[in-house]
Amino acid sequence: MENVIIIGSGPAGLTAALYTARANLNPLVITGQELGGQIATTTEVENFPGFPEGLTGPQLTELMQKQAERFGARIEFDSITSVDLTRRPFRLVGNNAEYEAQSLIIATGASPRKLGVPGEKELTGRGVSYCATCDGFFFRGKELMVVGGGDSALQEGLFLTKFASKVQIVHRRDSLRAGPVLQERARKNEKMSFIWNTVITEVQGDKAVKSVRLKNVQTSEETIKLVDGVFVYVGHIPNTAIFKGQLEVDEEGYLTVDGKLHTNIPGVFAAGEAHDRWFRQAIVSAGYGCMAAMETEKYLASLE
Ligand code: NAP
Repeated sequence: MENVIIIGSGPAGLTAALYTARANLNPLVITGQELGGQIATTTEVENFPGFPEGLTGPQLTELMQKQAERFGARIEFDSITSVDLTRRPFRLVGNNAEYEAQSLIIATGASPRKLGVPGEKELTGRGVSYCATCDGFFFRGKELMVVGGGDSALQEGLFLTKFASKVQIVHRRDSLRAGPVLQERARKNEKMSFIWNTVITEVQGDKAVKSVRLKNVQTSEETIKLVDGVFVYVGHIPNTAIFKGQLEVDEEGYLTVDGKLHTNIPGVFAAGEAHDRWFRQAIVSAGYGCMAAMETEKYLASLE
């Protein structure tokens, strides 16, 4: 039986691992589908303090992993598919193994929201993507569309201009949610243009994306545009489905926690985007990882 299992390996999970390892709790991190979580698919991290030149998401992940492992954290490549939090120790079932733990830190993060339009699912991996870092390289000299008006859409759209001949941002309103620095960079970039008040209603193509059907939300006018790829950045949904019915969540599925990151079950803590719908920054998630680890330490001490 483990003292503490950390589910998730993004900045929250790896920071919780570092702190619980340094508290001699011998933590086990279960990575989820991808080591590093969302930050591992981020092209450039320019706002993580301590890295004045910036670094890539995978680089940050690797450094965090090494730092946690240096103090004895163990990292298991598995995904948890169900949990039983009604018994003690808590029981987790993964794809590869079953686990038992006295305490849990849930750092399962969030996943990209899908558009939910015809063709999107069928053409994912064949022109529809949620990760510019992973797939941008395949679109050298091609024309791309990026959906969304937030920081992610602009940041990843700007990254895509390194490969693509043209990047069109399709946004459902006529003003951006993204911060001013990225807005300015985007507006200055010659390869970038904007299609306002518009949504994609269908992604078309057979073996690969060929075009999209667009709808102007003000006039309802529909048009077809030829494109080679569609990158979707329309927000996130928290990865909390496996806890439903056992842990309290809000109407959008975010875990309910108190100010010290305790869930409704003693010994189960949350850290990062699984509960934080507001900040969604790597540094904030790392901070939550630290807090959850410190509370876990107190909880385990109280059992003794
Ligand atoms: P976000 O800020 O939630 O933006 C999502 C965008 O998608 C919004 O513009 C939204 O439109 C649009 N949208 C949502 N649902 C849609 C739908 N069904 N169809 C079409 N458009 C839809 O998400 P994000 O850009 O991923 O950013 C998440 C968080 O990470 C934010 O806090 C952001 O600041 C942070 N972040 C920061 C950086 C950075 O600091 N450089 C980089 C990336 C992310 P509306 O605007 O109309 O709601």
